Amino acid sequence: MSKAYALVPAAGSGSRLGAALPKQYLMVAGRPLLHHALSTLARHPRIEQVFVVLAQGDDQFRRYDWRRLGARVEPLYCGGETRAASVFNGLLAARDSIATADWVLVHDAARPCLGSEELDRLFGELEEDDTGGLLAVPVADTLKRGNREARVAATEPRDNLWLAQTPQMFRYRVLLEALRKADPAAATDEASAIEGLGLKPRLVLGDTRNIKVTFPEDLALAELILANREKAAKKTVSGSSPRRRGSRK
Ligand code: C5P
Repeated sequence: MSKAYALVPAAGSGSRLGAALPKQYLMVAGRPLLHHALSTLARHPRIEQVFVVLAQGDDQFRRYDWRRLGARVEPLYCGGETRAASVFNGLLAARDSIATADWVLVHDAARPCLGSEELDRLFGELEEDDTGGLLAVPVADTLKRGNREARVAATEPRDNLWLAQTPQMFRYRVLLEALRKADPAAATDEASAIEGLGLKPRLVLGDTRNIKVTFPEDLALAELILANREKAAKKTVSGSSPRRRGSRK
């Protein structure tokens, strides 16, 4: 079986959040956002190591204690201008650890609520896949295309539309080649770079709670989801089984 590694691009400035600190360091439920994004990955038995791609001048990472996550987290100070450049640089920096056929799971630092069930599902459905794939959820809302005056120009059919999430899981060699050929400004996720090679990444059912923190109100929502999960975990330990909510299984 191929080994699997996680790579978390965390070199963004998070300007849409309007905070003084880059968003990966904002505190959520008592810990930096990045800590939550890393924890499910660092605890998963299939993942050998978690590489975190930081901005070259990052002076925040070393201020926090990451030891609770174990020894598998390794910072790489090689972030680029875009997310795609950060992932590409991270892959190059980790090349001595990862074999070309190994899996790489790229996960946003801004997604603190990834559950272990989704990660299990990703491995379960992709381990034998030739291409790899990503977590995603089917679009539930009605889609409107707006014009410049913010009036509805058309209602778009939502059949077969999915919202892409992370982790996105691909073979090291294929991902490196895809990102080398991609336009870094246009490749807002790894799957789109892989599609550029003519491949068709598999869509694996995610969970709507795996939100991406982008705007200030998302922080409160993330805190609520994490608190609920902790409560459910405590209940499980004390014997009653939690009911899964929000999953579209
Ligand atoms: O800004 P946005 O939320 O789209 O960023 C998605 C992820 O990519 C975040 O984890 C962010 O830290 C990362 N990123 C990066 N390098 C950049 C821009 C974004 O690692 N230059």
